[in-house]
Amino acid sequence: MKVCKFGGSSLSNANKFLAVDKIIRQDNERKIIVLSAIGKDYYEDIKLTDLLIALTQNKTNKKFDYYFNLVKLKVQKIANDLSFNLDKICNFDHFKRLILDNRVSDNYVISRGEYFTAKLFANRFSFLFLPAEKVLVCDKRNKIDLNKTLQNLKKINCNNRIIIPGFYCANKNNEIVLFERGGGDKTGAIFANITNARLYENFTDVNGLLNVHPSLSQKSNTIKNLNYFQLLLCVRNGATLFCEDAVPFVCTKQIPTKLINTFNFCDNITMVKNFGAFYFFGKPKNFHFLRKTKKCIKSRFIKEIFNIITFHKINISNVVYSKCGCFLECENLHSYFPNATQKSITNLF
Ligand code: ASP
Repeated sequence: MKVCKFGGSSLSNANKFLAVDKIIRQDNERKIIVLSAIGKDYYEDIKLTDLLIALTQNKTNKKFDYYFNLVKLKVQKIANDLSFNLDKICNFDHFKRLILDNRVSDNYVISRGEYFTAKLFANRFSFLFLPAEKVLVCDKRNKIDLNKTLQNLKKINCNNRIIIPGFYCANKNNEIVLFERGGGDKTGAIFANITNARLYENFTDVNGLLNVHPSLSQKSNTIKNLNYFQLLLCVRNGATLFCEDAVPFVCTKQIPTKLINTFNFCDNITMVKNFGAFYFFGKPKNFHFLRKTKKCIKSRFIKEIFNIITFHKINISNVVYSKCGCFLECENLHSYFPNATQKSITNLF
């Protein structure tokens, strides 16, 4: 079974909706489909999520109607272009009243971007629509409750494909909790995690992760293989094509994750898997060289490790610092550090 997630740039007009429908149907294993809110269709266009944020910020002034109409028009235009009667599934007058009467939270309003998009998509193309608030739940601290979410999912007849809006979940009081921006990736990763998906396909409008930002050079190439840690490093350092908070969910279950371009998905794909061997330096007392530096602070400990590495000219591909220690990725580290334990990088989370 595969979980797919399509970003807003893959859903910014009716033709793109049709293209996404085709991709989903091309593979019977594509069962759980997570959608973001309608994105920008042209340079000056505004994302549906940004319009909804503006709406919540202008609830009490004259601009409210202006933003409300932009929201409605954005969804309506795609429905019209797809010859679909939106009134059958979305009551915008009711939505407006809910907001003006202060009967819904700002989070609820903002989450309707993905909700309307997914509902329109599911109904137009005859898929089962599953609102995220019905399955995806978090605890008091907004931590995702994976067990409860799985239980909820099991209650749904999943033999057919399901369409789920990304970017939000519900807490125990049934209030909407938003993820961070780009959080549709997190929704997809959560479903890939709880269903032990064979593959998580994350569709965007770029050719996977590029080695150079396209704004800096036209000659960028797709990085074909990455491990979870490398992905984490890239997204922490500015790569926006995948959401940082999604990484732990695919990493801890080692779900192979493909970063694909919706409009060019044969070539130039980044595959994220558990490539490479990671060694863990967690318990300082286990290391002979550390006895010397026992009283030193953690940074000294790490410095010691690096001194040894530089001395022996050990070729390290990656270093990860975590709360409990330090991970190094290296082919033959064991011969230099016999006490280092080979552990999965998943211990990081
Ligand atoms: N629609 C949200 C955003 O614009 C979430 C997402 O796209 O995944 O940030």
